[in-house]
Amino acid sequence: MKLSRRTFLQQSLKLTAGAAIVSSPISAFAIHQKPKVLIIGAGFAGLSAAYHCHLKGIPFEVIESRDRVGGRVFSYPMMEGNQLITELGAEWIGNDHSFILKLCDQFGIPVQDNQLKTRAIYKGRYHESVQDLFSRKWSDKYSSLLSYYRNLSDEKKEQLGRSIDPIDWWRYLYNAGCTDTDLELHELMDSTDFGESIRHVSAYAALDEYAKTSEGSINQMDKKMTGGNQTLARKMMELFPDRVHSGVHVLQIIQNKRVQVICKGGRTFEGDRLICTVPTLALKKMIWQPALPSSMLRAIDQLQYARINKHATRYSERFWKDESFDLLTDTSAHYFYHATKLQTGTDKGVLISYTIGDKAAVVANQSDAVNAEAIRQALKPAFGDIDAYREKQSNYYWGNDAYSLGAYAFYGKGQWFELFEALNQNIFIPFLQENIYRKTGKVLWRVLWRQAEMLLKNFKSSR
Ligand SMILES: Cc1cc2nc3c(=O)[nH]c(=O)nc-3n(C[C@H](O)[C@H](O)[C@H](O)COP(=O)(O)OP(=O)(O)OC[C@H]3O[C@@H](n4cnc5c(N)ncnc54)[C@H](O)[C@@H]3O)c2cc1C
Repeated sequence: MKLSRRTFLQQSLKLTAGAAIVSSPISAFAIHQKPKVLIIGAGFAGLSAAYHCHLKGIPFEVIESRDRVGGRVFSYPMMEGNQLITELGAEWIGNDHSFILKLCDQFGIPVQDNQLKTRAIYKGRYHESVQDLFSRKWSDKYSSLLSYYRNLSDEKKEQLGRSIDPIDWWRYLYNAGCTDTDLELHELMDSTDFGESIRHVSAYAALDEYAKTSEGSINQMDKKMTGGNQTLARKMMELFPDRVHSGVHVLQIIQNKRVQVICKGGRTFEGDRLICTVPTLALKKMIWQPALPSSMLRAIDQLQYARINKHATRYSERFWKDESFDLLTDTSAHYFYHATKLQTGTDKGVLISYTIGDKAAVVANQSDAVNAEAIRQALKPAFGDIDAYREKQSNYYWGNDAYSLGAYAFYGKGQWFELFEALNQNIFIPFLQENIYRKTGKVLWRVLWRQAEMLLKNFKSSR
């Protein structure tokens, strides 16, 4: 049996189809005129399931704890008049995220280029291109490693995957001959992709991720929605505003012949099927009746979430000059990017300092004044003193987010195959979302769409 990452997902899709709907027997609602779906969570996953139900005429209700829709997609204006919109949550849509791109098209949301050209400040010196810092020898070796993997059959990929999954990506690179500056740069750069140091990330998860990025894509950091990524969530909600109940926190789920969702303050919803799209930590906080299987609870405990902090600073001028500006540093401010690329109408601009793992937790606990000073020092080798341009700061730390307690899931050493097998047996939605750890695009949306489609099929066959 082939068990490449892609195959896992495909299998999961087959298995999940129908299981998205947690254990309501079909016969139970055959007698109802209008079987209803309860959807928990108004992030992109929950709203896409709702949109599908809407299109197919399936009655539904969406229950969302926050007072806004979008979940971990969170667009935030850094200037009055809804200007300088920055993403404090998910930022990039990959060129390969065809599904989400198609939805943007359907909803008439323009998508703009968000590719960036990475500079570096390393050991106190500024470099126009991070690529120039890598040795030629290693760059060639790395390219050949990726293309070797890309050309393997699924079976061989799995074989290799199983042998390298127990080691971390940093060690894998080291074993492959990556040392000194090359290795330090990989650690700084690749860790931003996983939200934790690559010393914690499965070598297989990383290799597969980097190898499958298609030509013309910069690690799936390609596009974003004009007006902010949250626009898509808002537009979907506008189609069915009365069906989305925001500020309603789910506490308990009772499933017998029907589904009963009990919320804080005693509000109760009843339906025939359930689609639960909350992050796993939120899922575990709910009281489930009957209880979730113990193997699933074990898998939840194993799944780790990345810590990401985004510190946005608005400057009176875009002193970085280039709209495609981003910058990797070896300082505590870690990685900077121009968060208001192509947003015109003002000279002002926003840089986000993006930190991960332990660094994120440290930065999150500092005052604005301390962070401003760290950023000023970090940028000095490239721009001199930029403090006079600083106007406003905003900070969001996902490690303490009340619902996800992290940004997105990542797979640690030896977890890919084990956890996936457990999840495949257990058939449950939240894991399927998390298996892509940072992609709101293609995979996540397809998963939910497929689940909603199967839901519809079940309804039809039960009528
Ligand atoms: C900092 C950061 C950077 C990211 N970068 C990218 C990126 O560049 N590209 C990319 O594709 N992805 C990125 N992601 C990942 C992406 O945001 C997520 O994969 C995606 O938004 C998850 O959507 P979801 O609907 O599955 O979950 P969520 O968005 O978490 O939605 C779940 C919803 O459930 C609600 N909820 C939780 N508990 C309850 C409860 N008890 N009752 C009622 N409601 C509840 C939550 O409030 C939330 O709104 C990033 C995430 C973060 C945080």
